[in-house]
Amino acid sequence: MTVTRFAPSPTGYIHVGNLRTALFNHLIARKAGGTFILRLDDTDPERSKEEYADGIREDLEWLGLTWDREERQSKRLDRYADAADRLRAAGRFYEAWETPTELDLKRKKQLNMGQPPVYDRAALKLTDDERAALKAERGEGVWRFKLDQERIEWEDGILGAISIDAASVSDPVLIRADGQVLYTLASVVDDTDMGITHVVRGSDHVTNTATQIQIMQALGFEAPSFAHHSLLTGPQGEGLSKRLGSLALRDLRAAGVEPMALLSHMARIGSSQPVEIAGSLDEIAEGFDLSHFGSAPTKYDLEDLKPLTARYLHSLPLAAVADDVAAAGVPEAEAEAFWSVARENIETRKDIAGWWELFRDGATPLVAEEDRDFVAEALALLPEPPYGPETWGEWTAAVKEATGRKGKGLFMPLRKAVTGRERGPEMAEVMPLLKVKPRV
Ligand code: GLU
Repeated sequence: MTVTRFAPSPTGYIHVGNLRTALFNHLIARKAGGTFILRLDDTDPERSKEEYADGIREDLEWLGLTWDREERQSKRLDRYADAADRLRAAGRFYEAWETPTELDLKRKKQLNMGQPPVYDRAALKLTDDERAALKAERGEGVWRFKLDQERIEWEDGILGAISIDAASVSDPVLIRADGQVLYTLASVVDDTDMGITHVVRGSDHVTNTATQIQIMQALGFEAPSFAHHSLLTGPQGEGLSKRLGSLALRDLRAAGVEPMALLSHMARIGSSQPVEIAGSLDEIAEGFDLSHFGSAPTKYDLEDLKPLTARYLHSLPLAAVADDVAAAGVPEAEAEAFWSVARENIETRKDIAGWWELFRDGATPLVAEEDRDFVAEALALLPEPPYGPETWGEWTAAVKEATGRKGKGLFMPLRKAVTGRERGPEMAEVMPLLKVKPRV
């Protein structure tokens, strides 16, 4: 049974970077007919906010990334305390009292001497008396996991064979001095308690994975399989973090990006497969395979989403946009005709209302100075609405005869006068939708 999870911290909204993690884990579970868990990593009581938890659910629902179960780390603190006790009993957990400033100083010294800035395990060498004195002076210390200094190896679902020398990694702090359990331990306990079979996350977690594998071993747990997807960069290869604010999913939603365009794009960038717009998440899941992805940073350009959104909308039948069409005020009887005309000419759903306004109220005509008389003469030949499918042909034939104009010189000024735009739908289809006669 395949079980995956998406484990955001509710300390902010989801952005495109963590969408990738959410999507991959969702797809793996769905493709295998398994379970997808939404896990809120909320052990930090100060930074975790209910508002963000709600926002995360809302964003996932918008995308259709449904989850089978929700878990919260803040409800599982006793499980973490239990694991901590077992690590202590196994001699793999030790208390340390260095302040952040002291640690920083140590790191600087190491770097100056050309050594890797790895925690020197000074706390392990303390005598009982020294420990008691530090505790009396500084109170509770942090709890560090004592890594076995050997190579940690796993076959990564994306990166391939990984081997990390534990001696090059600091013993991770798993519990803070104030007693707060940190993600590194909580995640290990959750992943094993919840039977997670595949952990897919960003490559910024590779070192975490190495330490978590050892923590799992120390607790007698079997490690799941791990895969680390590359991180997204901006179009020029620059870090995405500076712009993360503007790439929050709720901002994309507000900008009119279509979920299916976003998901189709996200499921393919950084892989050997071309971006194709899918009709459903099931379809995306069917073709999804981690082995198609590479380790190189993946360029992400928000601009790509605009044409994808437009293309997706152009492919939709009325039924898929019926709510938006009705909300724009289009009467049901005209909805089909309206959509067939408007569809190819919108970039987002937000443009739907604009086209209906144009038909209902008339456009602001676009008339070049030199066409002013011609357009006025032409409009005099156009009767009042209602118009039919034959109106455009009959009208332009009459205008041609009266003015001698033909081809583009005939049609373009009339299109611009009627729609206020240079490009747009077939005029023969536009005319029957017009409620008012164009005026200049
Ligand atoms: N809360 C962690 C994060 O957002 C989860 C990482 C993981 O998937 O294990 O980075």
